[in-house]
Amino acid sequence: MTNETWGQVREELIKRVGKNNYTTWIEPLKLSHLKNGVARFEVPTIFFGDWVQRNYADHIRTQLTSAGALVDRVEFAVGAVKADLRPQPAKAAAAPKPARARPSDEDLPGAPLDARFTFDSFVVGKPNELAHAAARRVAEGGPVTFNPLFLYGGVGLGKTHLMHAIAHELQSRRPELRVLYLSAEQFMYRFVQALRDRQVMDFKELFRSVDVLMVDDVQFIAGKDSTQEEFFHTFNALVDANKQIVISADRAPGEIKDLEERIKSRLQCGLVVDLHPTDYELRLGILQQKVDHYRNQYRGLVLADGVLEFLAHRITTNVRVLEGALTRLFAFASLVGREITLDLAQDCLADILRSSDRKLSIEEIQRKVAEHYNVRLSDLIGPKRLRTIARPRQVAMYLSKQLTPRSLPEIGRRFGGRDHTTIMHGVRKIEELMTTDSQLADDLQLLRRLLQG
Ligand code: ADP
Ligand code: MG
Repeated sequence: MTNETWGQVREELIKRVGKNNYTTWIEPLKLSHLKNGVARFEVPTIFFGDWVQRNYADHIRTQLTSAGALVDRVEFAVGAVKADLRPQPAKAAAAPKPARARPSDEDLPGAPLDARFTFDSFVVGKPNELAHAAARRVAEGGPVTFNPLFLYGGVGLGKTHLMHAIAHELQSRRPELRVLYLSAEQFMYRFVQALRDRQVMDFKELFRSVDVLMVDDVQFIAGKDSTQEEFFHTFNALVDANKQIVISADRAPGEIKDLEERIKSRLQCGLVVDLHPTDYELRLGILQQKVDHYRNQYRGLVLADGVLEFLAHRITTNVRVLEGALTRLFAFASLVGREITLDLAQDCLADILRSSDRKLSIEEIQRKVAEHYNVRLSDLIGPKRLRTIARPRQVAMYLSKQLTPRSLPEIGRRFGGRDHTTIMHGVRKIEELMTTDSQLADDLQLLRRLLQG
């Protein structure tokens, strides 16, 4: 009865949490006990249990209850089989929470790795070749040459992919190394939990026992003081012990607002590399690779010439959107049993194409910048040299250069007939200030987001 109920409930949970989450987090659960209002599940690791408890326990309880099993508490315990594999003091073999000398791999609180994110599936092009080369070097697992490796770049450009690739590669080349990958958010979550449970020493010991630490999206800890502090100490301890660290963020260390200076400078000590926005060749390469992959899945599907080129040309926002478009296109074509032509692509992807299609004008940029800095549009374009107007004007020049295909003389004309050297000077000025003035970096980020929608 209990397992039957659980079977039904699982069906329902797929609908609630989505197939991906289901496969990652719910499917591995084994119902071991359902009595007196308590449902207990076996989980593969402590971290896994915490995560499911935090994110899915309520769903599970609700679904069990509506399937007729009265449950008011859901518990997760590390499975008996796995637990026996962990180093345990001989006489405490049956203790519920075995004491440990050195934290075992089972306890590493890392996030699950995406099996698809490997070096093999990473397409290298001009915009990411440096980041790729650096990641490869770290993945060799040889002596530490630069520490940390700091990868940064906009959303969807492959930071997480590269970090997972490093972890996969190290696992197969140097299985004896303890590699820990997690997001900065998870780092914080673990730390806060350790504080709450008064297990900060365990936490410290755990993080200091790894050989390679990878923390994704580190901008997340900016402004979170005690987490920053702890991160800083962990970081230093590992660097001192000559352990490799890999960090990612959405911008350069110096541009992360509310991050302590000492952390910024520490982060800059190693190799800082950025992933540039994709170019046409890279996008086409990524699409081609995906298509090769889909060929097995959707046999007999015909792809007309020029479709990939069209997509690479039109969808420039980020790789995730590009991949999503292709996935949808193949699924749709196979559903309706049609050849993938340009027409079909235009129909099926109308919404995506429309949103990446918006051609930004210099006027729009000027208007938004004026609004943001609260200056008059006429002043922004006019001749006034007041700093409060000149700086926003330079910001508008910079964004016009970055976000439109217009040439410097063309931009100059739209800024009240200024010379192209004036525009160039403005653009350079902002580029220079951007690296030291985090307020400005923030303004730019915000404006860019507003303009690109
Ligand atoms: P980020 O962490 O920088 O936001 P991700 O690493 O999550 O970006 O990448 C987003 C998606 O794009 C992933 O599915 C990833 O596999 C894919 N992707 C990004 N860059 C590449 C690349 N160079 N080759 C193949 N796939 C890529
Ligand atoms: Mg990421």
